[in-house]
Amino acid sequence: MSKNELRQLALDLRKQNKEFQVLHSQVAQQVADRFYGARQRFFGGLANKPKKKKPHQYLSLVYPQSGWRLSNLREVGQGKNKKKKARLYLSKIGFFTLIIHREFPESQVSQVCVKLYPSGRIHVIFLVEEAEPLGQSSKEPKNAVGVDLGIARLATLSDGCFLENPKPLERSLDRIRVLQRTLSRKKFLSNNWLKTKTRLAKEHEHLKDFRRDLFFKLGVLLSQEYDLLVLEDLNVQGLIQRGETKKRRLRLHDSSFSELRAVLEWQFRKREKLVLPVPAYNTSRECFLCGGINKGLTLEDRVFRCPFCGFTLDRDLNASLVLLKRAGWVPPAVPVELRPIPPLPSLGLKRRQGVALKQEAPPFKAG
Ligand SMILES: [Zn+2]
Repeated sequence: MSKNELRQLALDLRKQNKEFQVLHSQVAQQVADRFYGARQRFFGGLANKPKKKKPHQYLSLVYPQSGWRLSNLREVGQGKNKKKKARLYLSKIGFFTLIIHREFPESQVSQVCVKLYPSGRIHVIFLVEEAEPLGQSSKEPKNAVGVDLGIARLATLSDGCFLENPKPLERSLDRIRVLQRTLSRKKFLSNNWLKTKTRLAKEHEHLKDFRRDLFFKLGVLLSQEYDLLVLEDLNVQGLIQRGETKKRRLRLHDSSFSELRAVLEWQFRKREKLVLPVPAYNTSRECFLCGGINKGLTLEDRVFRCPFCGFTLDRDLNASLVLLKRAGWVPPAVPVELRPIPPLPSLGLKRRQGVALKQEAPPFKAG
């Protein structure tokens, strides 16, 4: 079936079925575009084979051109609580109030997508096409930072600052396990099953948000201070496959190096600053001072001791300095001691710790 035939079929089915008539006609037709998009991604080697979607997994509606209207744009609240709100009309569905958190030219919107997250959160995405403003500035970078990513310390900077790995997954794992078990005991698609599923999705979403929030804050901090970011060109997939223990693999997944790298790179590019990936081979075993390779270094060694020149430094700090050296930079001075990055505002660590403490208390049972 061609795309147009499939679109027509969707329209015909909509005409025959009363239930589908609550959908705007273009939204129903868009199913064909979706299928063809998935098919193209599959043949292009970008995605897996398209699967049949169950109704409870179909979570978004796309309005390609018409069928929606924005009105009543207004600002509410004062000071910190200032928000921009608007009213959105979706054909056949009704009116909704939106909180607008980004400016966009309303006349250039080419598509509106209403997305329901499994946790019940709803986002409305306005697709706007605009020229890519991001380029690299012509001015010479003045200061550079090497960033070594790791499990114990998420990021160690070549200036001696570090960010502890908050291990978001491990903090939520107990709750996720319990919820997952509860879910498996409910009757599939029953009300209680759906309720538990929402709670589980909320937990996962919190995890994802926490991680992303942390990465973005780190990115802002770094891109404001430095002109050049030097990262190791890690093969994260290979790293995970080589991971010896289940725990190590889990922690590697939890640290999301690829996402962290993508966020950092994006933040630097946004500010027209440079990002330089350097080969990751042997970065943690090379001596920053003399360049010798310390073959005896194991994963457990937290301190790097050079067998050739006697140079001694924290393992991660040495690695980040080696990165900087590989990029052709000489740090002004070797930092003597490590210091944590000043506590990032609203890291959200407190709330979780409070919950964890409560759970550790022994449960009381009467009698
Ligand atoms: Zn050495």
